[in-house]
Amino acid sequence: MTSSSGTVVGRLAPSPTGVLHLGNARTFLLAWLSVRSRGGTLLLRIEDIDGPRVKAGATQQAIEDLRWLGLDWQGEVLIQSSRRMLYRAAAQRLVDLGLAYACVCTRKEVDEAASAPHVDLAAAASGDAGAVATDGPVYPGTCRGRFASLEDAQQQTGREAALRFRVDVSTVPFDDGFRGAQSGAIAGDFVIQKRDGGPAYQLAVVVDDAAQAVTEVLRADDLLPSTPRQLLLYRALGLPEPTFVHVPLLVGTDGLRLAKRHGDTSLRYFRERGVTAEDLVGYLAKSCGLRASSSGCTPQDLLADFDLRKLPTAAMRGDDHGLL
Ligand code: GLU
Repeated sequence: MTSSSGTVVGRLAPSPTGVLHLGNARTFLLAWLSVRSRGGTLLLRIEDIDGPRVKAGATQQAIEDLRWLGLDWQGEVLIQSSRRMLYRAAAQRLVDLGLAYACVCTRKEVDEAASAPHVDLAAAASGDAGAVATDGPVYPGTCRGRFASLEDAQQQTGREAALRFRVDVSTVPFDDGFRGAQSGAIAGDFVIQKRDGGPAYQLAVVVDDAAQAVTEVLRADDLLPSTPRQLLLYRALGLPEPTFVHVPLLVGTDGLRLAKRHGDTSLRYFRERGVTAEDLVGYLAKSCGLRASSSGCTPQDLLADFDLRKLPTAAMRGDDHGLL
């Protein structure tokens, strides 16, 4: 999808919950290339609403790491933590529309009551067309129709209440810009406002992508299970839907999501050991199938020949990097 002015608008949306690692760098490089190779606009949004997980200084560091890598963006940086009132208003709108309700269930209670499969990252990342995967248990509907409002839920139970969005479908089919037709499994009613009143990621990302007039959401395919939920929110709020493009996640050589056991894969780590941004971009370009050799290059060097179809469809393995 393109904006009304005809140009694609994309975004980089780091969460300052840690330092940027190779996986983030790869996804951000692809998001940058996808937009810039078509003369579009790229925005930066800091997704710092995940309270306890946000690390001091990580926002500045992420910005610095992106700049070091040679990625840039246009306009003001949007900071989610300064937009809480907007997320509240969107959640309230959904309540007013009869599409969201108060819920006092704890995560543990939902887990215990549910019988649905948990996300299968390997399946989600396998590139299978339309692979069905959800990333949590199916909500059994315990609080649906139980309370008149958040206050009512609190009074009746003495617990803080979250807001959940009503889902009356089991799939939300959509066409992924990289993976093609997806069946879009969805695991029932989901949280849009947490018990502490803060927004859930699903709601914040939709409110912001719409507010920033984003037309292309390019991200790693560990977020594929979120897309059906986000599409339902776009529709419920009457917002224009962007195109979703899910690229393969970078995983360790053991096929698992990059984590401490794979050693330090932060950009800082490589940088401190003398790896240049060009070395790193060259390595990422080769790993994405964009270049035959991993010799150093800048993001700009990749623009002319960029084609998303060159990317391998399977999860990309690599924790040894050959960078050091
Ligand atoms: N902030 C999210 C992350 O770092 C990305 C969200 C998105 O791209 O929708 O995983």
